[in-house]
Amino acid sequence: MKTTRILLPSLLLTSAVAFATGVGYDDTPQIPGQQWKVHDKNRPNPPIVVPAETFSHMAPAPADAIVLFDGKDLSKWKSGDAEAKWNVADGAFVVTKGAGDIETREKFGDFQLHIEWSAPNPPHGDSQGRGNSGIFLHGLYEVQVLDVYNNKTYADGQAGGLYGQWAPLQNAVKKPGEWNSYDIVFEGPRFDASGSVSRKAAVTVIHNGVVLHHHQEFNGPTGHRNVPKYAVYDSTGPIRLQDHGDPVRYRNVWIRPLGTYDRPETK
Ligand code: MG
Repeated sequence: MKTTRILLPSLLLTSAVAFATGVGYDDTPQIPGQQWKVHDKNRPNPPIVVPAETFSHMAPAPADAIVLFDGKDLSKWKSGDAEAKWNVADGAFVVTKGAGDIETREKFGDFQLHIEWSAPNPPHGDSQGRGNSGIFLHGLYEVQVLDVYNNKTYADGQAGGLYGQWAPLQNAVKKPGEWNSYDIVFEGPRFDASGSVSRKAAVTVIHNGVVLHHHQEFNGPTGHRNVPKYAVYDSTGPIRLQDHGDPVRYRNVWIRPLGTYDRPETK
């Protein structure tokens, strides 16, 4: 009986964390409003959904979209005050290690963004070291890009994760070398006259036709092993792509400003 009493809680614990990878942290701060810590190694990973074989990533830009990359050059992008120095080849551009993050010259408020990405093939590295890049909305809020095909990592760092905050609902990633699409609808935060956030930034993310987040709120800007807070700004910013040292490729990037930012009732 004594043995049973000791074993039972331990078995329950094992079953509760059965879908966690055990990769991550347990010495990080609590995520506000959630039961998990930042990059929690015990947070369950999202279930895998295999996207349709015939799913088309190459969504052509609607007539009113701003094409941010047309397969030819990075003229719409910069790196700090300099030209964007990522390499362009075969209708795509690739994260060029050491060249730094790149960001759009133009700033956007609320928008719909389409972007396609492909992880290096063959893959190398593991966890956050495999095919890591990221799409920073307003240059502040990361939607993670990561090769999570047969790669264990913490839940809030999964592909499509709102890094350090929300795990995606699913893992819908394609194999390394294949193309993924993200369709992202983003609403920036609003601030009141005192500079406090009155409405948090929120995002909907569809990955290869699979919903990962539906109007999910960011707790604040993205951090690593910490919980950054909102600081007042004009609720516009660039799209910034992360140089995490891995040659992730991007193509077919377009954006549609939603215009709601100028509507008084949404301020
Ligand atoms: Mg990243």
